[in-house]
Amino acid sequence: MTVRATTPAVVWDSSLLGYDLGGEHPFNPVRLELTIRLATELGVLDGVPLLVPEAVSERELHRVHAGEYIEAVKQAPMTGGDPGHGLGTTDNPVFSGMHEASSLVVGSTMLGARAIAAGEATRAVGIAGGLHHAMRASASGFCVYNDCSVAISWLLDNGFDRVAYVDTDVHHGDGVQTAFYDDPRVLTISLHQHPFTLWPGTGYSAETGGGRAEGTAVNVPLPPHTRDPGWLRAFHAVVPSLLGEFRPQILVTQCGVDSHDEDPLADLSLSVDGHREIYRALRSLADEHAGGRWLAVGGGGYQVIRVVPRSWTHLLATVLDRDVAQGTSMPSGWLRTVGKAAPGHELPTSMTDGAETGFEPWGDGADDPVDIAIRDTRRAVFPLHGLDPDDPRD
Ligand SMILES: [Zn+2]
Repeated sequence: MTVRATTPAVVWDSSLLGYDLGGEHPFNPVRLELTIRLATELGVLDGVPLLVPEAVSERELHRVHAGEYIEAVKQAPMTGGDPGHGLGTTDNPVFSGMHEASSLVVGSTMLGARAIAAGEATRAVGIAGGLHHAMRASASGFCVYNDCSVAISWLLDNGFDRVAYVDTDVHHGDGVQTAFYDDPRVLTISLHQHPFTLWPGTGYSAETGGGRAEGTAVNVPLPPHTRDPGWLRAFHAVVPSLLGEFRPQILVTQCGVDSHDEDPLADLSLSVDGHREIYRALRSLADEHAGGRWLAVGGGGYQVIRVVPRSWTHLLATVLDRDVAQGTSMPSGWLRTVGKAAPGHELPTSMTDGAETGFEPWGDGADDPVDIAIRDTRRAVFPLHGLDPDDPRD
């Protein structure tokens, strides 16, 4: 596989706002709208053609979803009653056009994957994707169809034999892990708040993959209130070594930002600055270990005014090599628009939280809860990759 220097593919169209779970649901599409508005006003998207996605066919959905589930998603808005399959719950309410809107989100991520596979781009980003909880036959955690899993499955059938998936959402990437738990061609790594303390209650370090795929599911459960330095220490103690051994042909990343301190649904304590560091690290790792190929998608993130727009603008900028300086002021047009739409909200003034993101690399001897999590994960999977879990150089 040869890599040509190309402009990254950015997938966006306002039709993606149709994935709207309605009412007071926290997964409010305004999060996407405010992000694109901010990125646009900061000039991050200047001259970048936005690729307009189309809904994927049912054939593509069948890669990872059961036929009876797809049928239930299609029928639910018409039939009423209890559609089963995790649909019609508080988390996953039925909405008009649910199948079409969900298929379009999958199409967004698939378009990025196709652009990379065709050599038209080495990187692609689509912030509407990242619905990592959806399971084979059920909706889960605000996710109807699993765009990440469909795209990875498609990549496996289109020239890719080794795909690495890194999930930085505060919740465990359970849907994607489950889809490829027994598949040695897919390395899934999820860093998340500890399952004792947060839904979905999975993602223990002992979950390492099945059969021939043992070692290709990796979980780093972090204690509540972990801040940027601890999170980044854990990331760097686990992810680069595994990618170095696995040698993926592409890095797929779910970039949920509900790990932020102000997120209302979870209890990690990262900052916008930490998120920016994560994206820069993912970019470096894609360059170093995946031939530069990087498919980035969104995910969770429920502080939709103060956090999501800034963090995902940093994501878009990082993918485009147009990194936004932390001290950059919020553009006045964005502040005016948001101020009018959401009066009374305290708006951010700049692209930083002023947080300290420097961290001590993991080493032996430390015994705070983050270091214990790191050690447990390394001991669970490093030997399966020929790495020494107790040697900080590995
Ligand atoms: Zn989440």
